[in-house]
Amino acid sequence: MMNQDLRIKELEQELERKDQEIQSLNHMNERLSNSIDELKDEVYKYEDLVHSSNSLIAIFMGKDYIIDVANESIRDVWGKGHNVIGKPLLEVLPELRKQGIDDLLDQVYNTGIPYHADEVPVELVINGIPEIRYFDFTYQPQKNQKGEIIGVADIATDVTKQALLNKKVRENEYRYRELIHSSNSLIAILRGKEMVIEIANNAIKSVWGKGNDVEGKPLFEILPEMIGQGMPELFNEVYETGEPHFAQEKPLLHKKDGEMKLGYFDFVYQPQRNIHNQIDGVAVIAQDVTQQGILNKKVRESEKEFRELVNFMPHKISMSSATGEPVFYNNSWVTYTGKNAENLLENSWQSLIHPDDRERTEQMGEKVLATGQDLEMELRIFDKNGSPKWHLFRATAIKNEEGEITSWISSCTEIHKLKEEEQRKDDFLKLVSHELKTPVTSIKGYVQLLLSMIPKEEEEKENNKKLPVRPYLNRMEIQIERLIRLISEMLDLSRIEQKELQLKKEYFKLNEHVEQIIEDISYSNRDVQIELQHQDQSEVFADKDRIGQVIINFVTNALKYSPEGNRVIIKIFEGKNAHVGVSVRDFGIGIAKKEQKKIFKRFYRIAGNKDYTYAGFGIGLYLSNEIIKRHKGRIYLDSQIGKGSEFTFTLPKQKTK
Ligand code: ADP
Repeated sequence: MMNQDLRIKELEQELERKDQEIQSLNHMNERLSNSIDELKDEVYKYEDLVHSSNSLIAIFMGKDYIIDVANESIRDVWGKGHNVIGKPLLEVLPELRKQGIDDLLDQVYNTGIPYHADEVPVELVINGIPEIRYFDFTYQPQKNQKGEIIGVADIATDVTKQALLNKKVRENEYRYRELIHSSNSLIAILRGKEMVIEIANNAIKSVWGKGNDVEGKPLFEILPEMIGQGMPELFNEVYETGEPHFAQEKPLLHKKDGEMKLGYFDFVYQPQRNIHNQIDGVAVIAQDVTQQGILNKKVRESEKEFRELVNFMPHKISMSSATGEPVFYNNSWVTYTGKNAENLLENSWQSLIHPDDRERTEQMGEKVLATGQDLEMELRIFDKNGSPKWHLFRATAIKNEEGEITSWISSCTEIHKLKEEEQRKDDFLKLVSHELKTPVTSIKGYVQLLLSMIPKEEEEKENNKKLPVRPYLNRMEIQIERLIRLISEMLDLSRIEQKELQLKKEYFKLNEHVEQIIEDISYSNRDVQIELQHQDQSEVFADKDRIGQVIINFVTNALKYSPEGNRVIIKIFEGKNAHVGVSVRDFGIGIAKKEQKKIFKRFYRIAGNKDYTYAGFGIGLYLSNEIIKRHKGRIYLDSQIGKGSEFTFTLPKQKTK
């Protein structure tokens, strides 16, 4: 019994122990299940993290890189759908093979060293379309508990957008540098207050002449010669104020190849700002305009010389724009008018001119402005005391290479004294010719009387024995005729000057009149050969004597200026616009082109013509021209030196009202 009890006790103890053991096992079990739950939570959190991450995450297991984990982000980038788990990576993305990705994975798998790279371009075939994407990525070896490598994790970020942007920025910067370096302009970019050269293109380096290696050095260490020329101050001002500085044709001394040289530059100093809008440098963009600068300097100098010359001249010189607006008056104008240059330019030029000459001047001015011809005229200009003085005014157009008028240059020369002298001479001529006319006319009368008094028979008798009286008297008569004609011409001249020439117009037959005149001339010039051609028969309304005077002048000139022959052809012909023409053709010495206009001016005689051979005063053609002009006709001249001349005048056939 004792034994049995003992046995029971032992069993009970045993049972209690077991119970305790069960209890502690239960306890352990509970703890284990708790930690499994915690572990599950951890795994869940980890999976959630992987799958919800924006980063591209995948884990490849084994040497075949079987895709064990691939989050949605990476699957989207791969573009091969969702069923990729459990498949070898290079089977899913065969395009990676030719881009060396397989070698990279092998390298990480074999060495256990992680691999990282930024902005790697990878060509992917996304949904069938090849596309380049850029990635920052890490390949991380995966190990088991024993530390053996069992796979590779891929953690990547798609940086395509930023990479493309960076590429563009890099390209732009490259282009910008290329532009700077290939530019003909002189370009440099200076940084900081010390003006450290950041960029200097070849063009500016060549002008500086300090070699190629200038970047990184302060500007004025490279160009110390600029310090004394105000350049550091200029740069500082731009740097401090942020205001760009422009300069044109600035002369600068710079040392090139050991020699100081003068150059001229157009330039701009432009402040440079950083992204915070703070000035952090200055850009220099310049042009070497040395050649042009030297040329312009010369032009300025010569313009100054010209101005001084023009101011020094006693003549009144002025300049006007292409449209005739005065832009410059020289000192002589200022002295003469007593007005300063601004005053002269402000007031109208018309106010300087005598009212009686204004209209004529304006008309002439308008004419030359329209035609571009030279102008020459006489007019009265008021001096500083308000008294008008005669001037010879001349203007000529200045044209550019295209032949367009750019301005007008005018000179005014005082001829007041000359005019007064001329007036005195005119008065004297008028007086002399008037006084001469009476005695000469009476001499003529007496000669004619004597001629009529010599009886025919007496004469013949006398001719045989004594003096040849009649021929001498005849010659006297011819000479007196010439004298009378000269005196009348001189009287006419002063009549024209004083606007006193009156026309006594009448109807007469021109052909008959011409015939009569030729008869008279032939009578006193026996050896002449005058041919008359009537190609038109005309009646005119004109001053018969004056027209006769013109014909006599043409014919006597034709004879006078034909030393080796006396042939003259006179033609009466029908002109244009109901005019009749009379032409007088000779075969004499002819007239040079440049003289053909001038011979119609009063007292003009061609220099070089032997004065002793061809006597005359130079008024005949002037008078003829005035007479024909007053008849509303015209004079034409056709002449060739050595061949002869043809003078023609025309008259209206009908009465002019
Ligand atoms: P004058 O004959 O009295 O000198 P005119 O006025 O008649 O004056 O002529 C002016 C000038 O024109 C002459 O001096 C002469 O040089 C030139 N002249 C005129 N007619 C002729 C002509 N038929 N042939 C050549 N020269 C002429």
